[in-house]
Amino acid sequence: MSPDLNSPYARDIAHHVHPQTNLRLHESEGPLLIDRGDGCTIIDAEGNRLIEGMAGMWCASLGFSEQRLVDAATRQMQRLPYMQTFAHRSTDPVIDLATELTAMAPGPRAGESMAKALFACSGSEANDTAMKLVWYYHHAIGRPEKRKIIARRRGYHGTTIAAASLTGLPNMHQDFNLPLPGVLHATCPHFYREGRPGETEAGFTDRLVQELEALIEAEGAATIGAFIAEPVMGTGGVVVPPAEYFPRVQDVLRRHGILMIADEVICGFGRTGAMWGSEAFGIRPDMLTCAKALSAAYFPISATLVSEAVYEAMRAESDKLGNFSHGFTYGGHPVGAAVALETLAIYRERDIVSHVRRVAPRLQDGLRALADHPLVGEVRGVGLMAALELVADKDTRASFPAARKVPGYLAACIQKRGVLLRGRDDGLLFSPPLTISEAEIDTILAAVATGLDETLAWLR
Ligand code: PLP
Repeated sequence: MSPDLNSPYARDIAHHVHPQTNLRLHESEGPLLIDRGDGCTIIDAEGNRLIEGMAGMWCASLGFSEQRLVDAATRQMQRLPYMQTFAHRSTDPVIDLATELTAMAPGPRAGESMAKALFACSGSEANDTAMKLVWYYHHAIGRPEKRKIIARRRGYHGTTIAAASLTGLPNMHQDFNLPLPGVLHATCPHFYREGRPGETEAGFTDRLVQELEALIEAEGAATIGAFIAEPVMGTGGVVVPPAEYFPRVQDVLRRHGILMIADEVICGFGRTGAMWGSEAFGIRPDMLTCAKALSAAYFPISATLVSEAVYEAMRAESDKLGNFSHGFTYGGHPVGAAVALETLAIYRERDIVSHVRRVAPRLQDGLRALADHPLVGEVRGVGLMAALELVADKDTRASFPAARKVPGYLAACIQKRGVLLRGRDDGLLFSPPLTISEAEIDTILAAVATGLDETLAWLR
């Protein structure tokens, strides 16, 4: 780090608070200063080139130098840089985006798509909106007591008060006085960690479904409004659920009049090898939230998509009250909508889902080839998202004590070999841009293999 007090490193330490960072440690370590992007690679301020193995935060789906998105933003900025969507105002890009998104997103029944889109700027806001709409919907249909929401342990839904409450990661709640009352957390469908000795994966699914039934019975179905889930948990560790999990969960929810919200903030737009994680895992959502790859992360925009039935209730309630009293200044930003439309056009033209299916086996098989490494407990993933779980003991599956910071050490070893990955809790997460090539995947795999050996040597 430069000793110059005016350097960007020193000023970052002096003036900038970093999210999801140990603030004291940051004062001694300083920032990793990123200067520019080139395809799936970013270049730091010292000129080091790093393949971005996490696509930023699961989001830069088209890499870091897609000129078409720059042009789309520029054109819209020049024409109309801002307009609100309150009180009947609208713009062409917002209308086009709502039309396209609702037609492409899966609805609550086979062959049915979503009816309406509400826009915001982040995944957290999209999930906050969904939570408010659960309450609004149930007021409209005369069941206002159906207020509780079931989320899952290790699920991640964002950091606003509502979204962090839905999130099932204890450190997101600790000392923030969260979660809000009325948010329940069900078991995470991670067979490797949550399965019991002797239990098969089918038996594990049976148990989770029974537990859900028991939770609903104990709380009272009349008090539960919705269930929210990522098709594949991302931040919680890329947890791919058993194939029968979601169809079985949804049978239970339907019987109890509980809405299903699919949080597609990570899974949406091809990440799993299907356009939507819901399609890949048998979810028929009443509401669907998306963000991140919606604009390839070039502009902050998110959407909450609702089914016809949910919309009809919203319409009736707004008519009764005189107004639908919800919205954000920047919700339906025309520049964000223009960038998202161009992003969706690129996905279509380049058939991004087929590309993901073509290159994903290189990543998944390559990681699975590391499963015998003494530090690797489990390799899991689907499409272009994966996790490698580190263990201190393969037989007992014991984790390393957090204080040893093993994932952080491993990520640092990998970074020295030109690949940026995220070490988190007990593992290493992978979510490269959807445009990644097989050659770039090979570079990631080689860096991980060497990094694992180096970490093992350090531990011994
Ligand atoms: N939902 C999921 C599944 C996410 O992964 C995230 C962010 O990582 C969010 C919601 C929150 O999105 P944002 O950070 O844009 O608020």
